[in-house]
Amino acid sequence: VKKIAVLTSGGDSQGMNAAVRAVVRSALFRGLEVYGVQRGYQGLLNEDLRQMDLRSVGDIIQRGGTILQTARCKEFLTPEGQQRGAEVLRKNGIDGLVVIGGDGSYQGANKLSKLGIKTMGLPGTIDNDIPFTDFTIGFDTAVSIVVDAINKLRDTMTSHERSSVVEVMGRHCGDIALYAGLASGAESILVPEVPFDIKEISSRMKENFQNGKRHSIVIVAEGAGKGEDISREITEYSGIEPRVTVLGHIQRGGTPTHNDRILASRLGDFAVQKLTEGDSAKGCGIIKGELVTTDIDKVVSTKKGFDMDLYNLAIRLAQ
Ligand code: ATP
Repeated sequence: VKKIAVLTSGGDSQGMNAAVRAVVRSALFRGLEVYGVQRGYQGLLNEDLRQMDLRSVGDIIQRGGTILQTARCKEFLTPEGQQRGAEVLRKNGIDGLVVIGGDGSYQGANKLSKLGIKTMGLPGTIDNDIPFTDFTIGFDTAVSIVVDAINKLRDTMTSHERSSVVEVMGRHCGDIALYAGLASGAESILVPEVPFDIKEISSRMKENFQNGKRHSIVIVAEGAGKGEDISREITEYSGIEPRVTVLGHIQRGGTPTHNDRILASRLGDFAVQKLTEGDSAKGCGIIKGELVTTDIDKVVSTKKGFDMDLYNLAIRLAQ
């Protein structure tokens, strides 16, 4: 490959900019020309491409969001749309593409690879729901934001001897709830991967309060239920009236943590290296600290595993 392009697609996440910067600079370092595609696959179909130089990715490593912007694009779901996307790239002499996004974006990259464009996927989502990587770009920052919010809630809860239900993002994946729950000492962690019994949780809360616990936090992954519903059920079973906090999109914003910036930098560079080696249709990830590639076909057809050891530890420590 001589000319490559990079785009961000699907939901944004912190660290996408650091990944774009790594792709651009790593490509230039290797003597490639590199283009940025605005607004994901939609921008590709609109031929919204611009050549990137060292300076076009200056001062972005610390910024949330994505300077390339992102979009969801219905037209790209059709074979005609994909065909046109490949033509736009070919017309501009581009034979390699790095796609930063979630599994939908990966599937788009897979389709383009079948049309002769070499593609690499980078896991850009706060949800940590992509398999064959221990972490996705943005997850670490999202967890930090949740932990920070729970610290603040704890201060006021302890003063008033209250309980809180905190609803966090993650779609069908409980990792944000798990990691933030462990890091913030939540009493209960409700995730879609593990069945739970609100009745039992409620009586444990009641017991703990009777035994002198001054606050209690229940963290709920959005895939496990709505904070409001969980709180209502706890009140029904125990009389305790937990306050509900839904953190929402603040989890997707703000400056990325150093972990996300380093992950994004390593993965961005790795994706370009793999393209120059002629590799294609792969998702890039990090497993036990090692950079790895996995066929996109396999990535999108595998469900991400859940770390039961970590979950059990969190529960053991939250007595
Ligand atoms: P997130 O998990 O953050 O939402 P995502 O990448 O999964 O990110 P999607 O909306 O599923 O987000 O996908 C982004 C875009 O990728 C879609 O709008 C569409 O243009 C393209 N895409 C999704 N699925 C496919 C597919 N099966 N084939 C081709 N393109 C696809």
